[in-house]
Amino acid sequence: MIVMKFGGTSVGDATAIRRLVAVVGQALDSAPLVVVSAMARVTNALLALDGALAAGDTAAATTLLRALRDRHAAVANELRLSDAVQAAVRESFHQLEDIVRDAPHGSDARRRDLVAGFGELWSSWLVVGACETGGLLVDWFDARSVIRTDEHFGSAIPEEAVIRAASAAAITPKLGSGRVVVTQGFIGATAAGVPTTLGRGGSDFSAALLGAALDAERVEIWTDVDGLMSADPRVVPGARLLTHATYDEAAELAAFGAKVLHPATQLPLVEAGIPIVIRNTFAPEKPGTWIGAESLD
Ligand code: ADP
Ligand code: ASP
Ligand code: MG
Repeated sequence: MIVMKFGGTSVGDATAIRRLVAVVGQALDSAPLVVVSAMARVTNALLALDGALAAGDTAAATTLLRALRDRHAAVANELRLSDAVQAAVRESFHQLEDIVRDAPHGSDARRRDLVAGFGELWSSWLVVGACETGGLLVDWFDARSVIRTDEHFGSAIPEEAVIRAASAAAITPKLGSGRVVVTQGFIGATAAGVPTTLGRGGSDFSAALLGAALDAERVEIWTDVDGLMSADPRVVPGARLLTHATYDEAAELAAFGAKVLHPATQLPLVEAGIPIVIRNTFAPEKPGTWIGAESLD
C-alpha cells in the first residue's frame, strides 16, 4: 500500500479536489490510503473561532462559522456531491454549531483541539464525495479511531504501538481491490476518546505514522510545489529543487523552516526505511523529491 497525503492547497477548492481525484485514480493499483489536510486557511479560521469563544464573543464565532459553512457548501455544490455526503458535512457543521452555542466562556485546551480538527473532517468528506462522483470506490475513515495520542492538547504525542495495531486491524482490510480509503491528517484521540491534534502542519506527521503502521511502500506528500527545495521558493527565487535527499537533510531543512514538510515526518519512517516522496498536485507529471536513507544527488 501507499499513503498519499494532500495538503491544504491540494484540497483548497473544487478544481484542486478534482485534480486530487485524478491523481488518486492513477494510483489504484498501489492500494492508496489518502490522508487530507483541511482546506487552505480553514484551520486558521477555526483557531480564530475558538479564540472568539474563549473571549466570550459568540457573535464573532458565529460569523466565522457561517463563512466556513458557506465555503464548504459552495465546494460541495460545485462538486455535485451525493446527498449522503452532503448530509455528513451538514451533520459535522451542526456539531460545531452546538459547540458555538453552548460553549462556556474562557479558554479550554480540549475544546480548542476539538474545534481545530473540524477542517480535516469536512475536507475528508468533500474528497470522499468527489471520489464517488469521479467513479472511484471509496471509504471514509475516522483517523481518531486509530491515531492514539497522549493528552498533550495542541501538540499531542502519538503512541505508535497502539496506532500500528489499530491501523492493521481497521484499515488494512479496507485497502486494495481498486478501493480508496480517505482519512484525516492532524487529528487523533486519547485512550478515553478525547479528540487531540498533532500540532500545526501535523498532517504530514499523520501520513508518516500511518505509513509506518501499515508498512507502506512509500509515503507521498502531495503539495503545491515541485518538491523539497534548497530554500523557501517564496523567499529565495533561485532556490534549487532537490531530486533526492536523505532523511537527515530533509529533517534539517524542515527544522530550519521548510514548511513543505513537518519536522517530525521522517521519524516513524527511518527505521523501516520507508521513503517519502514530495509531489506537486498541480504538476503530477513531475517526479518530485525522493527522501530516503541515501542521497543520490
Ligand atoms: P501543504 O498545505 O501542502 O501541507 P505547506 O504550505 O504546508 O503545504 O507547505 C508547502 C509550502 O512550503 C510551499 O508552498 C513553499 O512555499 C513552502 N516552503 C518553504 N520552504 C520550502 C522548501 N525548502 N522547499 C519547498 N517548499 C518550501
Ligand atoms: N490543517 C492543519 C494545519 O493547518 C494541519 C496541516 O495542514 O497539516 O496546521
Ligand atoms: Mg503542510
